[in-house]
Amino acid sequence: MRIDPGSDALLVVDLQHDFLPGGALGVAEGDRIVEPLARLAPAFSTVVATQDWHPPGHVSFASTHPGREPYASIALSQGPQELWPDHCVRGTRGAALHPALPDAAVTLVLRKGTRREVDSYSAFRENVGPDGRRPSTGLGAWLSARGVRRLFLGGLARDFCVRVSAVDAAVEGFEVVVLDDLTRAVFPERRDEVDRELAAAGARLAVSQDLIR
Ligand SMILES: [Zn+2]
Repeated sequence: MRIDPGSDALLVVDLQHDFLPGGALGVAEGDRIVEPLARLAPAFSTVVATQDWHPPGHVSFASTHPGREPYASIALSQGPQELWPDHCVRGTRGAALHPALPDAAVTLVLRKGTRREVDSYSAFRENVGPDGRRPSTGLGAWLSARGVRRLFLGGLARDFCVRVSAVDAAVEGFEVVVLDDLTRAVFPERRDEVDRELAAAGARLAVSQDLIR
């Protein structure tokens, strides 16, 4: 698979300290993908890095809901919400992008989950919206305006923000390739379920070694 600088883009999902081992919501082996992603990024002329960027008291924090524990799900009036440890609080070190990702290679940093009352796993749409429609981040239109037609994804976590971003990218009409070796999951044991969802959306899996720069 040859990278076409004109029509290909790389989406680096949430490569932030809090999602790496030792972080507030550390994903096992998340550190293993940092250097390979950092080396790959300069091969693309469009690189979008998403950054989970929550205000204190965010709806996704278990601590916001008295008596609730992280890694569980609750029913809110707007729909189900997974609960997490406090993570990626805006402006903290945990929320910073990993410095190995070369700043010069990143075209756009897209911050998400910035509103207290709504979570956003996807780079393209918030998780829920007032009338059942998920508000757009504008990323799809931005990529299209730059002539991007195919999107490669890597980052964290495979089963949440990478999964939903990949599905939404396919819905937006992009050809989608998830770089399997450049992702890690919170719940690796649920891999089959995630892969079925990706396949149903039309997202392909590939490994970064197959990319020709
Ligand atoms: Zn978050």
